[in-house]
Amino acid sequence: MNRAVHVYSVPLRARFRGITRRTGLLFEGPAGWGEFCPFEEYGDEEASAWLACALEAADEGWPAPVRDRVPVNCTVPVVSPERAHEIVKRSGCSTAKVKVAESTLAEDCARLEAVRDALGPQGAVRVDANMMWDVDTAVTAIKAMNRAAGGLQYVEQPCRTLDELAAVRRKAGVPIAADESIRKAGDPLKVAVSGAADIAVIKVAPLGGVRRALEVAEACGLPCVVSSALETSVGMAAGVALAAALPALDYACGLATVQLLDGDVTSESLTPVNGFLPVLRQAPKPDRIAEFETGDPVWVERFNRVRACAG
Ligand SMILES: [Mg+2]
Repeated sequence: MNRAVHVYSVPLRARFRGITRRTGLLFEGPAGWGEFCPFEEYGDEEASAWLACALEAADEGWPAPVRDRVPVNCTVPVVSPERAHEIVKRSGCSTAKVKVAESTLAEDCARLEAVRDALGPQGAVRVDANMMWDVDTAVTAIKAMNRAAGGLQYVEQPCRTLDELAAVRRKAGVPIAADESIRKAGDPLKVAVSGAADIAVIKVAPLGGVRRALEVAEACGLPCVVSSALETSVGMAAGVALAAALPALDYACGLATVQLLDGDVTSESLTPVNGFLPVLRQAPKPDRIAEFETGDPVWVERFNRVRACAG
């Protein structure tokens, strides 16, 4: 089947993962719209899971939800403490996820103090280090951050390997969440995370769709946090569908990232109200697509290549 695709490029409000624009493509199928947006550095094999997720959205749709709203965290990128405070206050969320390890420890701690101040004592603060530390650096940094934040809910992927996560978990005295360890694994269904982590971060696109992510969640046997891959509201709806279909949902999900984008393709964005997202799916608006459409042939070629190798 030849598909009409719409390549988009949306600016980010602040640098995130080292990028300043989010690019990808959108297409429609019998079940709705899908979004294909593997990060640019990903090879075709890794991108094939993202394609499976987009095809599931467009051609099959998703399993029935068991809840009608999903609690979410706000995300604090590498910004000043003042800006961090403002982001948390404005979000209405009672859980904040703070990106750390991309600036100095002192800067990270100052940002965490501001986040705690904005949330108040009842709020939850979690950090994500994206595998940037070795074990010793992680333990030192986590202890300092745990003090600065007035207690951390968990630390996401402090180091690269499961052995390192297990060592940090023993030494740092805070819960550990596994993210890259699951989604970058050769077979995410077979990762033995339970000795190395307390929580599993599950993302629909890198795991190949909602059904596949539900299988991974069941197989890992840990409480799950559903997280996004910085999609527009079209792709985000798949993450919301996963969070809505999980049998248990004990933690706020990382699905409130549409507001990190300076623009969206649907008329109403999937942004939280009082810390919750509605379980809602919308088609993009043609004039919104047109606003961000680039037609970049590199993306069309990438889409066709990944489709061909996925069979
Ligand atoms: Mg992460």
